[in-house]
Amino acid sequence: MNKETTKNIRKGLIADCTKCFGLCCTALNIMPSSDFPIIKPAGTPCMNLQSDYSCQIHSQLREKGFKGCTVFDCLGAGQVVSQVTFNGHSWRDNPETREKMFQVFPIMEQIHEMIAYAAEAISYDIPATLSDKLSQKLMELQCLTKLDSDELLSLDLVMYRYTLNELLTATSDIIREDIIAKLPGAKKVKEYDHARADWIGKKLKDKDLRGTDFRGAYLIAADMENTDLRAVSFIGTDLRDANLSGANLSTSMFLTQMQINSAKGDVKTILPSHIQRPSHWIS
Ligand code: SF4
Repeated sequence: MNKETTKNIRKGLIADCTKCFGLCCTALNIMPSSDFPIIKPAGTPCMNLQSDYSCQIHSQLREKGFKGCTVFDCLGAGQVVSQVTFNGHSWRDNPETREKMFQVFPIMEQIHEMIAYAAEAISYDIPATLSDKLSQKLMELQCLTKLDSDELLSLDLVMYRYTLNELLTATSDIIREDIIAKLPGAKKVKEYDHARADWIGKKLKDKDLRGTDFRGAYLIAADMENTDLRAVSFIGTDLRDANLSGANLSTSMFLTQMQINSAKGDVKTILPSHIQRPSHWIS
């Protein structure tokens, strides 16, 4: 699979709520927290969901305490479940398939997330053997999106995640080593390994963290203003309320829209091309 194709696959993973039956507002459960002011069990429509599946308070979500809704990103899983798996038949008109549709949604969401990671990994300059393995994995994942609801519900996603994770880790290590080797006074790669670190609230303003591995790290509310985060691996990093104002993430790896939506930033933050600047960063 060539790089252009995978770039387009990555760019195509954008939610189109006009083709979805409000699945994120119905299928998922909501608990009162700093992200939501209400309690809502999974499988129940949110009180703000309208008959055309749009949100009644879309333009005031943050002001009304629904911050979590502005963070969530299904990567296009909602429209695929609505239009492909269930062939355009809504849960509203088909009570018999309603539960199944709600169960399939988080599965499709995970598949789309894995497709996004695999497509991004192939876009880097990595050895052909690794690229071939990732391409194979990406094609397998794309096939899964076409399965019917029963087949999707019987999938063992843990195995898919495990094998993909090994390939992503190998990709990230190669790219980071390459970048670190080019840094002036390059240090050992080990010194850039902060995978699963607990750096909640840490002061990292103006630091040069290029090439750092932040896999699974907790950077909640960390101050990363004007930090250089190029070639940093962000697989599974918790960036909630991290301050990324003025930070350079232009070549950050495996950064998701949801991670960025959950963080703070501004017009000076430099983002990778596949990530959109959240509207709440500029208002
Ligand atoms: S508040 Fe709006 S966007 Fe959030 S779950 Fe309810 S209907 Fe969906």
